[in-house]
Order: sequence, then structure tokens, then C-alpha cells
Amino acid sequence: MINPKAYRWGAEPSCIRELYHYGRDLARTHGEEVVCDFSLGNPMTPPPPAVLDAFRRFADHPDPREVHGYTVAGGDPSARWAIACDLNARFGASVGAEDLFLTAGACPALVAVFGALTLSPKSEFIAVAPYFPEYRTLVEAAGATFKAVPVKVDDFGIDLPSLAALITPLTQGVILNSPNNPSGVVYARETLCALASLLTEKSREVGHPIYLICDEPYRELVYDGTEVPYLPHIYPDTVVCYSYSKSLSLPGDRIGYVLVPPTATDARALYLAVAGAARASGHVCAPALLQRVVAACASVRPDLTAYERNRRLLYDTLTSYGYRCVYPNGAFYLLVEAPEGDGKAFSDRARKEGLLAVPGVDFGCPTHVRLSYCVSEDTVRRALPIFRRLIETK
Ligand code: PLP
Repeated sequence: MINPKAYRWGAEPSCIRELYHYGRDLARTHGEEVVCDFSLGNPMTPPPPAVLDAFRRFADHPDPREVHGYTVAGGDPSARWAIACDLNARFGASVGAEDLFLTAGACPALVAVFGALTLSPKSEFIAVAPYFPEYRTLVEAAGATFKAVPVKVDDFGIDLPSLAALITPLTQGVILNSPNNPSGVVYARETLCALASLLTEKSREVGHPIYLICDEPYRELVYDGTEVPYLPHIYPDTVVCYSYSKSLSLPGDRIGYVLVPPTATDARALYLAVAGAARASGHVCAPALLQRVVAACASVRPDLTAYERNRRLLYDTLTSYGYRCVYPNGAFYLLVEAPEGDGKAFSDRARKEGLLAVPGVDFGCPTHVRLSYCVSEDTVRRALPIFRRLIETK
């Protein structure tokens, strides 16, 4: 007998991956120039020079165990310390190495947090739409129930009354992703303060903390000086899941962390439960070489020049053609309303022209398509006439 849920997760690839593989096949058979692929969030900006230097330095290390050996499960203390120092310097946080648990990216960090907080199949996690589609799979795989706050299409903000209505005594956590994939929106400080007030009130009402699970792989990818507030200062019961996949352009190398700040209720027990859930999922330690690299580069920030250029080009041109989208302040995504009001129908029409745009339905926003603009400027420029045709022939 085969676990039918596991089968479904394996046999039905995410719509993002499905579209990406379609694009790769098309490029192989008809040439790269017929494909404008906006499907995957795979940064095209190379890792910063300091990161590449660190790789070279550590690859030549005379003692292989130093860079290839097992580390303690939570990560080498000096790597955790370097990250803690960076957070303390930037945000005035007071976190220590012992508050960080290094993982192989954000997804395993989320797995560990959901595992740590799932008490029974009735335990609930609520994501704010639009949301990263993997949340549903990861919550369900932890054995809990996934719920979503309906999308606010006017500004992709947080519909607080709807969130309040979804919270029950079984709610263990609210998942927030800012800067947001797929909308590129960065939630403003006032919005986060209002969310914190609601969660404080609801935690009191239900008699236990409702943790805010803050998924932040795009924290460093913001434009126009937009602030990404440090959430534990606004809501102490915050747990941060972070990844270097996007900020240092290392998605295939797999490195990230869970931060359980000392301000969180039952912080030590929660940290140990995160460690336990990670262990139960097969975690041994985060890739050791990558731990060294991020320790050496904890204060290195990405070069956003290419993303910034694509963002402006796409937003300005698409809106001049009549497309509607919310101006994105962060990440490298644009969530565009389909002219026909149906993201799947638009994505199918676009695909016939070699333009790959992900339907919004899996993000909880079926009227839109997501464009991932971490692509070459040439791809954007080749796509513009296609976008024009698609809106003229809707
Ligand atoms: N969370 C969000 C919002 C993402 O967009 C992604 C990747 O695209 C992840 C988590 C997963 O990141 P990682 O590659 O570090 O597992």
C-alpha cells in the first residue's frame, strides 16, 4: 500500500514547476528565443563576489572536516553567532546563537516550525493570501489543517476582519510572508501593528499564544528604501523562517534558518520542539560548507540593479498597455490581473505564445497571474509585444 497523500504530492507537481519544465522542453525543441519564462523564482543575478570568494576559500581548506564534516544539528555555533550579530546590529535585536537553528533553506525551516506547533490533525495554521503554494502542502504534511484569509485584490493587504473570523481555539499559527511572493507587496509597519493587536487579543481570548510565523526569504529584496520591520519587536510571539536562496542567489545550495527570539512565549521549549521536528523530518545538519559561507558573509547584501530595472520596465509597460497590478516594493514578482478575469485562461493563452506566467489560483488569487522577473532584461523586452497582443485580443 502506498500513502495516497504522499503519492498526490509527488505525482502532481506544483503548477510553477510544471510550467517551468514545459518551458525547458520548448527551449530544447524550438530554441531559447521562443520562450519568455516568468515561471520560477530562480535568481539570475549571480551570488555576490564575497560569497563566491568564500566558496573558493573554504573549498581549499586544509582540514576537510572543517567544511565537509557534520556540525551540531542546530548549526555550527560560530555560524549562528555571526548571523545573530548581524541581526542585532541591523535591527537592534537581542538574539544569541542559541536562538537560531540552521536549516537547508526556508522550506525545511517551515517544516520544523509546523511540526513543532502541530498538536493534532485539528491544529490550524492560517496563511494570508496571496501565499506561497507550498504552505498548504507543508502544513498538511505536518498533520495539521491549512486555512487561508481571502485575498484583498485592491492592495494585497491583510483582510483583518476575515482573519479574525478564521481564528479558533485550534489556531496555532498565522503565516505571513513579506516581502510577498507572489505580489511583491511589503506589509507596512501600521498594518503589522494592527495584525499584532489582533493576534494579542485573540491569543488572550483562546488562552494560548498564536504564533506569527514569518517567512522572510525576500527580506533583503526591497526597493525605493521600503522598510521591512523586524517583526519580533512588533509581536513578541513571532518565529522567523529565513533563507539565503534569494538574498545571496543560492537556491540550489540550501541554507537558511529558524529564529525563535527569546521574547517568544516558551521560547526555549519551542526552540527544542523545532529541533525535534527537524530531527524527525530527517534533518541532520544544514550543509556544512554553506554554514561557513553564510557565516563569512552574514552582512553581505544582494545587488538589486537588474531586478530593479526589470521591475520598472514590466510595471510601467504593462500598466501603459492597460494591465492592472499593485506596485511591488519587494521580492521579484508582479501579480497581474488577467484581462479576462481568469488567471488560468490567461496563462493558457500566454503559454501558446511561449510566454510562461503562473496562474494565481494556487496562490489563493485565481483572477491573476504571477510573473517572476528574476530573468534577463532581454526576456522582459521580448515578452512585451506578446503582453500587448494578449490584452488586445482578450
Ligand atoms: N517561502 C517563499 C515565500 C518562497 O518564495 C520560497 C521559494 O521560492 C520559499 C519559502 C522556499 O525557499 P527555500 O528555497 O529556501 O526553501
